[in-house]
Amino acid sequence: MRNDLPEKALATGDLTRDEIVYVLSREAEVEVKQLLDVADRVRRECVGDGVHIRGLIEFSNICRRNCSYCGLRRDNGEVRRYRMPPDEIVAVAQELDRRGIRTVVLQSGEDLWYTGEIISDIVRRIKATTDMAVTLCVGERPFEDYRVFREAGADRYLLRHETASPRLYKQLHPDSVQEERLACLRELKRLGFQTGAGFMVGLPGQTVEDIADDILLLREYDVDMAGIGPFIPHPNTPLADCPGGDLRLSLKAVALTRIVLRDVLLPATTAMGSIDEFGREKALTAGANVVMPNYTPLKYRVNYEIYPNKRCITEAPALCDGCMRMRILSVGRTIGTGRGDSPRSTTKALRH
Ligand code: SAM
Ligand code: SF4
Repeated sequence: MRNDLPEKALATGDLTRDEIVYVLSREAEVEVKQLLDVADRVRRECVGDGVHIRGLIEFSNICRRNCSYCGLRRDNGEVRRYRMPPDEIVAVAQELDRRGIRTVVLQSGEDLWYTGEIISDIVRRIKATTDMAVTLCVGERPFEDYRVFREAGADRYLLRHETASPRLYKQLHPDSVQEERLACLRELKRLGFQTGAGFMVGLPGQTVEDIADDILLLREYDVDMAGIGPFIPHPNTPLADCPGGDLRLSLKAVALTRIVLRDVLLPATTAMGSIDEFGREKALTAGANVVMPNYTPLKYRVNYEIYPNKRCITEAPALCDGCMRMRILSVGRTIGTGRGDSPRSTTKALRH
């Protein structure tokens, strides 16, 4: 590694595109280790040792879109589709609250059966009966929906940008437009959501320059959270025969994101854990500080197959609690206290 880079990375994280590309391209074991160690130090200095636990509920696998990489895409006729009734979603969220989890993430395909009003009602009921922060991850919606979600009390919104490359974005999304997705991100930010973007590593045709641009996009959009994980090919998609992303490059991307964005919330994603038994632990030691155990009821969970061999498909909630805590403690970290709000956000929770 160039001698001055680790120092610069530690001190400011103000790396240029060329410097990010240079670091991403290093392959020597010692250089990769140096990068991950620097990220771990930046993580400790900027956000401490606590790892925040978010309880994930995948409440519908129905999607109107056809993203080429995703097992839930509209044209995949092999999926057994489901919708959780709103009462059940609220009940599972309340159960998470009783377990001491302080954030619930409600995720789904782009399923417009859940209108703005139905989702807002779910959010309102969770906020009225628990102390949890509510994160939504339900894709691109009319701006009016975002506004009512926020008014209902939703605190955070995850909308990965998927790839910063206009060329790749177009190739992978036959029915959506990059500029529209980015406009959604800007609107979410404007409405005061703690906002998350993020991207996949190892997409077919993706270069290290593209990944550098992904990291720079996260910086430009001043995101609160960044979800980064390897692309994993799904057999019932047009990308079935493409190679998947590798853990090493994904870890480097996580580490550089920590270094460049300093106090961002950075999950050790399920995709990391799905390509390597200890992928999530490795991400936690490379800059990550969030985990998102899956609390979708088991009868639905197997059908939320974004990619094959997803982790934690059959574990009951009590087991998930213990397993996730053990994994956090095993890498010398502590369980995050409080709701784990974004340190960058000036808008925290809306109070009603
Ligand atoms: N439908 C919403 C959306 O697209 O924003 C939220 C749910 S979507 C399943 C959540 C994320 O899964 C996507 O943002 C994408 O990055 C990721 N994903 C989908 N297919 C994947 C694959 N084959 N490998 C890795 N990640 C994938
Ligand atoms: Fe639908 Fe999201 Fe999958 Fe795209 S990534 S097909 S929007 S669930």
